[in-house]
Amino acid sequence: MPLNRPIIPQRPCFKICYICGREFGSQSISIHEPQCLEKWRTENNQLPSHLRRPEPKKPEVLTAITRDITTK
Ligand SMILES: [Zn+2]
Repeated sequence: MPLNRPIIPQRPCFKICYICGREFGSQSISIHEPQCLEKWRTENNQLPSHLRRPEPKKPEVLTAITRDITTK
């Protein structure tokens, strides 16, 4: 039995934070997102009411992008 089968290293799955747009590992994004959203809310609350933005919503996985390509 050959034991030299290549071991495929588990590549970290990177996800992009929908709030700040930065890349994070699939585990760290679950930690980051609530913190990032809280920070966003704090900053947004400090703005005058006419400058406040609607809270970013977590996008549905890939469907929005696919639709974007097909409609153009
Ligand atoms: Zn973020």
